[in-house]
Amino acid sequence: DSVFSHIVRAPEDPILGVTVAYNKDPSPVKLNLGVGAYRTEEGKPLVLNVVRKAEQMLVNDRSRVKEYLPIVGLAEFNKLSAKLILGAESPAIRENRVTTVQCLSGTGSLRVGAEFLAKHYHQRTIYIPHPTWGNHPKVFTLAGLSVKTYRYYNPVTRGLNFQGLLEDLGSAPSGAIVLLHACAHNPTGVDPTFQQWEQIRQLMRSKCLLPFFDSAYQGFASGSLDADAQSVRMFVADGGECLVAQSYAKNMGLYGERVGALSIVCRAADVASKVESQLKLVIRPMYSNPPIHGASIVAIILKDRNMYNEWTIELKEMADRIISMRQQLFDALRARGTPGDWSHIIKQIGMFTFTGLNKEQVAFMTKEYHIYMTSDGRISMAGLSLKTVPQLADAIHAAVT
Ligand code: PLP
Repeated sequence: DSVFSHIVRAPEDPILGVTVAYNKDPSPVKLNLGVGAYRTEEGKPLVLNVVRKAEQMLVNDRSRVKEYLPIVGLAEFNKLSAKLILGAESPAIRENRVTTVQCLSGTGSLRVGAEFLAKHYHQRTIYIPHPTWGNHPKVFTLAGLSVKTYRYYNPVTRGLNFQGLLEDLGSAPSGAIVLLHACAHNPTGVDPTFQQWEQIRQLMRSKCLLPFFDSAYQGFASGSLDADAQSVRMFVADGGECLVAQSYAKNMGLYGERVGALSIVCRAADVASKVESQLKLVIRPMYSNPPIHGASIVAIILKDRNMYNEWTIELKEMADRIISMRQQLFDALRARGTPGDWSHIIKQIGMFTFTGLNKEQVAFMTKEYHIYMTSDGRISMAGLSLKTVPQLADAIHAAVT
């Protein structure tokens, strides 16, 4: 008898489980719109040309070795990552008030930030939007924070519940941490406008709420790296403090390389340096130090003007393809006379459309049309192509009529 025989089977991850179910389906027309990874028009994963080039440079450089990185990762990568999200001219960087540590993609950056806050910050409550990426509550709870939600989405308008958001943050205890999606909110695709961000900023600063930005889609939402960083930069421009978790999974297509960064913007340089010393104590017993390969790729691309420009062009191509899929799907539903207002498909931003389809409709589309998505009706626009839009439009039409 096993000492583990009492262990009960855990459920599949609700997002990654979609792919498990998809893989089991023998149908030749099956379509996976569950997982948030970019696909080409041919439905294939994409490695950016500029990434291939950077990898070639790494291979050719015989002086490169495989030694351990420092606990906080590759110094050059950290500096360039802070510049990418905060802006090259950021006073916070100039004044050395930012500490940046390389972490295991977006998830690892969130976790390290959360562990640090649970240990050293006076308020252990974090407010996350409802709904949000399914991993958020687990990451923060397991790090020792107490998770509460704030209203974010209005299912009637399929847009932002701005009033609810202001009320909930307005009644949060002073000092509470607030998780904000920097852009391309997952799963809703709904972002505050610039004016709304400004109101959120004023409210949060007046109540001393601590912003923790999750930036998983910089450049992927609008096609512009600067435009997608606006929310973060507004909060840094006022001189106040915040945390930012960055991921290079989507915008450089480095999903499996697990490259990301956590930046903590402080009010003074000596504070930032003490914060960094404590981040090391968080990281060392977790995984010692981060992997070298992905961060080296990112550093090569970010530091060279030509490589950087090449990246922005390829990034914009990905963003534009997703935006054009929105239009295609919207037009296809219009053409079918599908009942309902589907304008949210073209209004929402980023990789996902929050369709408004319910659990039963999703199950119907999977059973009858072999289309896979999360049960909350979220579809990955990046998984669509000109060829598969009609199949999806037919399925949605059948599901709602
Ligand atoms: N945050 C959000 C909102 C996401 O959608 C994702 C990925 O889907 C992540 C963080 C983390 O992704 P990764 O750990 O692969 O960078």
